Amino acid sequence: MKLKILDSTLRDGEQTPGVAFTPEQKLEIAKALDELGVDIIEAGSPATSEGERKAIRMISGEGLNAEICAFCRCLRQDVDLALQCEVNSIHLVIPTSDVHLRARLQKTREQAKEMALEALDYALKHGLVVEFSAEDATRSDRRFLFELLKEGLKAGAHRVCICDTVGVLTPQKCYDLFSAATKELRAPIAAHCHNDFGMATANTLAAIRAGASEAHVTINGLGERAGNASLEEVVLALEELEGVRTGINLDKIYQVSKLVEKYSKVPVQPHKPIVGDNAFAHESGIHVHGILADPSTYEPFRPETVGRERKLIFGKHTGSHAVEEQLLRWGMKPSKDQVKRILSELKKLGDLGKVVTDSELRAIAAEVMGHPLPEAVKLEELTVVTGNKITPTASARLKFKERELVSSGVGVGPVDAAMNAIGRVLEEVTNIQLLEYHVDAISGGTDAVVDVIVKLTDGKRIVTARGVSGDIIMASVRALLDGVNTLLS
Ligand code: MN
Repeated sequence: MKLKILDSTLRDGEQTPGVAFTPEQKLEIAKALDELGVDIIEAGSPATSEGERKAIRMISGEGLNAEICAFCRCLRQDVDLALQCEVNSIHLVIPTSDVHLRARLQKTREQAKEMALEALDYALKHGLVVEFSAEDATRSDRRFLFELLKEGLKAGAHRVCICDTVGVLTPQKCYDLFSAATKELRAPIAAHCHNDFGMATANTLAAIRAGASEAHVTINGLGERAGNASLEEVVLALEELEGVRTGINLDKIYQVSKLVEKYSKVPVQPHKPIVGDNAFAHESGIHVHGILADPSTYEPFRPETVGRERKLIFGKHTGSHAVEEQLLRWGMKPSKDQVKRILSELKKLGDLGKVVTDSELRAIAAEVMGHPLPEAVKLEELTVVTGNKITPTASARLKFKERELVSSGVGVGPVDAAMNAIGRVLEEVTNIQLLEYHVDAISGGTDAVVDVIVKLTDGKRIVTARGVSGDIIMASVRALLDGVNTLLS
């Protein structure tokens, strides 16, 4: 049986505290998931709101390859709303643990079963594909759980799902449960694992080993509390470690992760497997030396596999190989002695607890090597206006390789307006995009020195740059322009 991937970023993922997507954002994410190659998109829960139904309808109407699924409680009204959204299938969920039945439904096991089978029958009669799902299955009486799922299958459910709703399985327990379920049910079974003890990925893999034929996952592991099993972890572990083909277009994983990060406003932790900033970043001298000789020394697989690039980080652990390699990439050819001096300057900054950005490394190298730093873009003039009852507006005059360029922009605040004004000029002459903007106040008080770090890309390379100033607008603009000049060098 081919393994199916059900992505629940738009349902369980959106239930992450503080996350709410607009219908347009949901549609854009759904299209990206479809291109990624997921089999089933759980697009949302129609009972939630009118906006949610609008989003699901938009996704259903898009003609995507993936099966479009809606979450339903075992209520006729939920099924009706799903039908109005014209989905292909529903994820029909009934709690099976005594604590859920008592506290939430106030029903006996028998009453719950009746309610579930009634809703199932109603959905099937209306032509829906049904995934019949047991919530909190892993804290339920196993006999009752299997009996309920079996009756659902007998009634015509197309597949069933066992939910580890509060993430209490361990890989061994999960393997045992899914082995028993496979033997008992003889039907397609999905695994829905949560990450409360950090084992969602491991448990999902164990379930598949034991015969589960579908994995519920979310991008970046978004989801209730500690989240769901993450698509990127489950898929890469299956492909790279278990030799299981998932049908996912692996090289699109990183861009989908970034899209979901942007719309969910939940930053991906730096050391997150596969998609975190540090997943393919190397700083220590020993590691970089190894990586440059053969990447497999310190990488389990190549970053290009998931659409990423290897990144060398500069700081106190940096060695001479990394400095030489990075400067060569920028077309700078330092002598051995110059490398040594550049490295010692780097380490001084590193010892102050600073991460050294690409633009700073370039500036240090230029100084040590006695080159003037070529500046393709220079700021000549910047005016920013902000206040009460006016739209923050900025105008900028820049010199780009002897050409004079003028532009203006508005924004949600003065920094945004300034960055937009400059960004618009740069758009005309380069394809550079701002990926990330990060600001820290170094000291307290309203006169604090602020430290801005930006990450920019020209579509191929990514560089980081820093701007430090007492003026947040100038710190931001300096970081932006230094980054642009590094990319253009
Ligand atoms: Mn869940």
